[in-house]
Amino acid sequence: MLGGMIHKNLHTELVVESLNAETPNHWSILFRRPLNFQYEAGDWMDIEFAGQELRGGKTYSLSSSPTDSDLQITFREGISELKKALQGTRPNDRFFITRFGNDYGFQLKKNQSSVLIAGGIGVAPFRSMLKEMFDNGDKNKVTLIYLNQNEDFLFKDELDMWSTKLPSLSVIYISTKEINRKKRERLMRSLIKNANQNFYISGPPGMVESNEHLLIDMGVQIRNIRIDSFGGY
Ligand SMILES: Cc1cc2nc3c(=O)[nH]c(=O)nc-3n(C[C@H](O)[C@H](O)[C@H](O)COP(=O)(O)OP(=O)(O)OC[C@H]3O[C@@H](n4cnc5c(N)ncnc54)[C@H](O)[C@@H]3O)c2cc1C
Repeated sequence: MLGGMIHKNLHTELVVESLNAETPNHWSILFRRPLNFQYEAGDWMDIEFAGQELRGGKTYSLSSSPTDSDLQITFREGISELKKALQGTRPNDRFFITRFGNDYGFQLKKNQSSVLIAGGIGVAPFRSMLKEMFDNGDKNKVTLIYLNQNEDFLFKDELDMWSTKLPSLSVIYISTKEINRKKRERLMRSLIKNANQNFYISGPPGMVESNEHLLIDMGVQIRNIRIDSFGGY
């Protein structure tokens, strides 16, 4: 893992535009982009609902791209106070960004080949990176390996469209429901032929850790692995 942590404390108002169902258990919220709010694909933000300290995980990756006119977060449904507020949000509701940042250089390196490994909702920051890559017409080779517990892959229509139009981008969907750990590891080994690339892993901590160990076992240098671990799941 490379790089340090870059965190900024803020009190920036976010106004909701819409709440959109992505799958039966996932939602996205579109916010009006605050004036002069600059960020990079792979960044996360801590949010607060209308200035209230609600219980629940407050860190969300930006699933929007810096090239998008709005900000977007995408989350798995939940039962905490904050999740209930997120799921019940209406246009013009107000949130605040209290912090935002990026850990360990979780940013796609342009002009180098990369493999992105997503576990479930961990695809959120990769949506940001790939949308930016598509909008800018970047030609670096990128492979997204998207592991999910069922067939409800988030952003599938967009990912399919971007990979059809960008020959340098490929997306491999793996539904892990029917396969055990050994079979999944064998599959990953067969998909990753070149250990000498940049690797990014994003998802719940257990998934991130097991894939990090697998990559190291396959000969990937630790300095070429960057992780985004979604604590709270
Ligand atoms: C850097 C970083 C980036 C992150 N990015 C994202 C992101 O983009 N999207 C995202 O969703 N999260 C993201 N997270 C995680 C997020 O911050 C929360 O920790 C996570 O969503 C859990 O939310 P919660 O604590 O409010 O719990 P909840 O989601 O409410 O869950 C609380 C508990 O209840 C269980 N539970 C949930 N739903 C049900 C149900 N229907 N029935 C019974 N039990 C249930 C859960 O398994 C959990 O044990 C990120 C975390 C980090 C650190």
